[in-house]
Amino acid sequence: MIKRSFFTLTKPRLLYDLVEPDPKEPESIPIPSDLTLVLDEPIDSTRQALIKEGDSVEKGEKLRLYNQSTDYTISPVTGTISAIDTYLDDFGNTSTCLVIKNSQSQTTDTNSMTYDLKDDIASADEYFRTLPGAPPLKILASNTVKINTIIITCADMDLLSTTHQYITLKFWDKIKEGAKILKKLTRIPKLCITVPENLNIPGESDLIQVFKTSMEYPSNLPAMILKNHLSMILPAGKTPEDMGVSFISAEAVVSLATAYKTKSAGFEKILTIIGKQGTKYRAKATIGTPLHKIFNAFSIHINDQDRIVIGGPMKGFATYTHNHPVQPDMDTVIIQDRDIIPEVSDTPCVNCGKCIRICPANVPVNILVRYLEADQYEEAADKYDLESCIECGLCAYVCTAKIPLYQYIKLGKYELFKLRALETANDE
Ligand code: SF4
Ligand code: SF4
Repeated sequence: MIKRSFFTLTKPRLLYDLVEPDPKEPESIPIPSDLTLVLDEPIDSTRQALIKEGDSVEKGEKLRLYNQSTDYTISPVTGTISAIDTYLDDFGNTSTCLVIKNSQSQTTDTNSMTYDLKDDIASADEYFRTLPGAPPLKILASNTVKINTIIITCADMDLLSTTHQYITLKFWDKIKEGAKILKKLTRIPKLCITVPENLNIPGESDLIQVFKTSMEYPSNLPAMILKNHLSMILPAGKTPEDMGVSFISAEAVVSLATAYKTKSAGFEKILTIIGKQGTKYRAKATIGTPLHKIFNAFSIHINDQDRIVIGGPMKGFATYTHNHPVQPDMDTVIIQDRDIIPEVSDTPCVNCGKCIRICPANVPVNILVRYLEADQYEEAADKYDLESCIECGLCAYVCTAKIPLYQYIKLGKYELFKLRALETANDE
């Protein structure tokens, strides 16, 4: 496999947005009558399920499909399970969605079930994986992954989003509190925090090392943080966790601090919403709320062929339905008018070289994409650095021929993962 140097002389040219200095409160979206929760585990009709349609659930109740399930979700309301169905993601992976009918007119202040928490990471992992911000508790509690550094991200990873900067400005004390809790639970000695260089935080903490990140995209992506602030080069095909580093969002740390104080789970997710004219809104919505409830609150009308993108403009993916629920790790939603959706085309590569010049990982994107178009995933990885890609999306942004390079790469990595899993299974 080729392992190219990660360093490059090419300068990224896009700037991150900075949160307003005195941001106003987010628009609070009322809890809807039906909430949809997604469980990673698929339905297995041969097994006896622990939950079924018609079951009553309490706010804060842990829901699992089967006795042996390690995946779970937590009900954000007291109500009834009105549907359990298969959910298909962008790559055709099957998971499960649960629809909970909200039985009362509940407010966000309604009491949630309390838990018997212990001061260890396994206990946190037992109840708090689905807190707003999706803390990586499964990894932190794992016996097989050895984490020695935690990085709290106050700098938003994609363009346009200011969700984590907002949380940093508003809840800095909670972040410090959450950091202390994280340190106590995990006993991981090194705690760092990323803060955009232009954001004035209200005071630093002895407990946490602050990394001031550049305003230039893609400085806030994990691979860039590792390179620029920890002098670590992420090897091809490896994750930050493989290198002993775990990233956790500012929102997840704040959620954890509140959860430990109240001994119960929180469900209110902060989101940055970008409207059709580029207007930016900030919303606070209960996990499981369908997106159209948020759009209605801001009088954003979705027409046929408009596009809803979950995530930022560089790394986001389109969803096919405005019923898509708010999820614990959803920071940004963009609505693009059908008339201004950036076009993609079938035009072949014209070898302009722009993608290669802008790629921060020095991937030969123009050649790589030919192998991906031909479904030659192993060759793409072995000869053309598929796995060195840090998924910044810059190549697709600059492509003269408007080839959806980023989407090809994401799909290629996914197919490669499946191929390798199959090979491993066949070898056993
Ligand atoms: S998304 Fe494109 S530009 Fe970014 S690292 Fe991957 S190949 Fe390079
Ligand atoms: S930017 Fe697009 S057209 Fe230009 S070399 Fe890369 S893939 Fe080809």
